[in-house]
Amino acid sequence: MNIQVELLKTGCFYADGGAMFGAIPKRSWSRRYFSDENNRCILNMYSLLIRAGERIILIDLGAGSKYQKTLAYYGFFDMQEWKDLLKTRSLSVTDITDVVFTHLHFDHCGSATFIENGKVGISFPKARHWVSASQWKNYQEPHPLEKDSFFDKNLNVVAEARLLQLIEKDCILCPGVRLCLMDGHSEGQIVVYVETELGTVVFAGDVLPLAANLSLEWISAYDQCPQKSWYAKKRLLDEAVRMGQTVIYCHDAYLRSSTVKKAGSFYVKDSLVDL
Ligand SMILES: [Zn+2]
Repeated sequence: MNIQVELLKTGCFYADGGAMFGAIPKRSWSRRYFSDENNRCILNMYSLLIRAGERIILIDLGAGSKYQKTLAYYGFFDMQEWKDLLKTRSLSVTDITDVVFTHLHFDHCGSATFIENGKVGISFPKARHWVSASQWKNYQEPHPLEKDSFFDKNLNVVAEARLLQLIEKDCILCPGVRLCLMDGHSEGQIVVYVETELGTVVFAGDVLPLAANLSLEWISAYDQCPQKSWYAKKRLLDEAVRMGQTVIYCHDAYLRSSTVKKAGSFYVKDSLVDL
């Protein structure tokens, strides 16, 4: 099957540079990622549109607008409406057959719902919404360290409408689209592998939010279990190097995607690939 993919930017926000690079000192990370005088880094929010025969699939949805006041610290800007993004591609929200969430942090799933006249509505009413069972448990009973990233109104109505599909382990979503579980940033995060004419494209989610996170030890302070993040990243990058896969950096404001190579014991970006 001829599968087509396109990266779509749903908006931008600011994140603290120190938080994005955990234990790495600023004198090191500031050489690889820009920050302003308040130590803020610009992060993009990318989603992947996949056209695979009859299936029109979105991977992650961005933050949406419901919680912008609560999340004012993040200073969201350049936010896009899904209706508009899809319309320019001759699609509508009811054409989307599947939505896959890498995980349920607000910047990845907020657009799943909207509020109109005080009621929560579902943005993609015909879509099956895929998430891992362990991530769903996490969302319902979050650890205090993670709870500020989860919002009830983002997914509960989707579950009530029986549009939620939980996966327990790695699986094939449809021919050419594979879902793999990788813990660390958040329990049961999904990494998506898509077989395209250009080769395999990897939507790594927050396993690899920025190209600057390619170094195994450059792990965000938001990660719930950094040791697991290290192993997840190594597994993902070893395969990407071996197979010549294209990796998407879903939050990077300066580099959307690239192939990866090894330089000594380091992983570095190789050819730039525009998706
Ligand atoms: Zn996250």
